[in-house]
Amino acid sequence: MVATQKGGRCFPSFAFCNFSDLVRYKDVTKKKHTMKDLKKEMYFVEGQSTTTREIENLANELLKTTWTIDIYRHKEASVINLWDLGWRFEFNTRKRAAGLCSYRNKTIGVSEWLLTQNLDRAVNFENTLRHELAHALDKAMGGSNHHNNVWKAIARKVLCTAERCYSSEEISIKVTTKYTLKCVEDNCDYERASHKAQLKSARSYSCCTTCYNDGKGYKRLMQVQNY
Ligand SMILES: [Zn+2]
Ligand SMILES: [Zn+2]
Repeated sequence: MVATQKGGRCFPSFAFCNFSDLVRYKDVTKKKHTMKDLKKEMYFVEGQSTTTREIENLANELLKTTWTIDIYRHKEASVINLWDLGWRFEFNTRKRAAGLCSYRNKTIGVSEWLLTQNLDRAVNFENTLRHELAHALDKAMGGSNHHNNVWKAIARKVLCTAERCYSSEEISIKVTTKYTLKCVEDNCDYERASHKAQLKSARSYSCCTTCYNDGKGYKRLMQVQNY
C-alpha cells in the first residue's frame, strides 16, 4: 500500500500509527491560529476581536495561498495563486460596503472605516475577505462578476460560509463609536469615527483632510453624537 503524498511529506496509513504518532498528528491539525493552514479552517472564532494589522495580514496570507479549486466534475482542478498573478489587498474608505473586489486594479479591499468601528467582529470581516477572495478566484478562472452558482461553489471552497458571506456584501455593520466627525462643506462627504468628544472650543476641532488635500484649506469637522 502506498502512503499518501502531501506537500512532500508522507503520512503512514493509520494501521501503522502508534499512539504517540496519533497524538503528534492531532497536535499538528489542531493549530487553528497559525496563519499556515488557511485552506482548512477559519482563522477567527465567533466573538473574537481583531486589529487592522491582523486583517491586513490575513488578507495577504489568503492572497498568497495557492488554492486548488475543483468545482467541475469533468474538468481539471484550477490551481491559482492570486499573489503571483498580481493581486493585492488594500483598505478603502467606503461607508456602506465592508468589502470590495476590483478586477481592474486586481485588488480585494475592506472598508477601514467600518472595520475600525467593528474590531469586535473579526469573523464578519474574515468572511468579507473570503467573499472577495472568491470573486478574485472566479475572475482568475474566467468567471463573471456575479453571485452565481459557480461563485458560490468557489466561495464554499475558500470557506466563505455561503449565506452569511453573501449578506456581507452590504454588511449592515453599525456605527459603534459615540461620535462621528463630519466635514461642514456641503459637497464633501468626509467623515470619521471618534470615540472621544472633541473639546468645547471650536478651534480644537480638527480639519477635513479631503478638503485640505483638494486645496480648499482648513474646513472644520463638526461633531455628531451617535448615542
Ligand atoms: Zn460579492
Ligand atoms: Zn471636506
